[in-house]
Amino acid sequence: MPYMACIVPEPDRSIPPLRALIAAPRGFCAGVDRAIQIVELALERFGAPVYVRHEIVHNRFVVDRLRELGAIFIDELDEVPDDRPVVFSAHGVPKSVPAAAQTRGLTYVDATCPLVSKVHRQAQRMIEEGRHILFIGHAGHPEVIGTFGQVPEGSITLVETVEDAQSIQIPTARNLAFLTQTTLSVDDTAAIVETLTRRFPQIRAPRSEDICYATSNRQAAVKAITGECDRMLVIGAPNSSNSLRLAEVAERLGVPSRLIERATDIDWDWLGQPSTVGITAGASAPEVLVREVVDALRSRFDVTEEIADHTPERMIFKLPRELLPDRAA
Ligand code: SF4
Repeated sequence: MPYMACIVPEPDRSIPPLRALIAAPRGFCAGVDRAIQIVELALERFGAPVYVRHEIVHNRFVVDRLRELGAIFIDELDEVPDDRPVVFSAHGVPKSVPAAAQTRGLTYVDATCPLVSKVHRQAQRMIEEGRHILFIGHAGHPEVIGTFGQVPEGSITLVETVEDAQSIQIPTARNLAFLTQTTLSVDDTAAIVETLTRRFPQIRAPRSEDICYATSNRQAAVKAITGECDRMLVIGAPNSSNSLRLAEVAERLGVPSRLIERATDIDWDWLGQPSTVGITAGASAPEVLVREVVDALRSRFDVTEEIADHTPERMIFKLPRELLPDRAA
């Protein structure tokens, strides 16, 4: 694994040494980056306030910053005044939401990640083929609610665990298909898919992997460093699916791990005096929070930083044309 030492400070013999092994890739994915840019551009284009239905991405730091710029976060569309624009979050929304916005004549911009939209299109195609969909995901997650809202009620069934996959009762075991949430554990999902395909050998798989590149790359990057870490700090929100999965991945490989929102959440007693601490960040956590955590470690340890570069990422998603500067009135 190519390690790149980026900062090697003079050793301070009064505090214990600590190697901070920082996973890469980590933090913002292309879908989160695009969603944040959409809110920023909407504020430039329409002026404040711009309404945003649900947290644009699952990160309080990001949400607070956009709020300061003039975004107003709301739960439902009826909180949006008739004359203000609204942005839909990166997790996607049920079809009924843009339909209701159109009925009211609201200006709206959809920040749904293109990889979530791809799952929506696959769900619609499977229904057109007359299939019943088994959807592997977590109950209540906005992405799951959004995908369920693409297809008729009763045509899709949630599968959360291997136990569900073993016991679930389907109206007809023929013409089945499965899809998955984009931010799941790669390993857990493989076990669920294996169970479903054993039970329903004819089940149709999605055309391509639904777990997105960012989720799989961040999990692979954590796996690559766990062998060298005594503790793992995962920066991300407690409601961020992909961040939770990163902490799980490290724990399962035997590294005690904590999900923290920012440096003030570090439990120093739990951290103890490790020789190497792994650091990563979920797809909705900005890099500034990684720096904040490293700085907090520096206040107690003589830190040597290393970046463990696993899989370079170059994904960029296009912005909605109506927000691009040359389209502005
Ligand atoms: S985690 Fe994946 S699906 Fe979610 S916004 Fe990022 S790229 Fe899109």
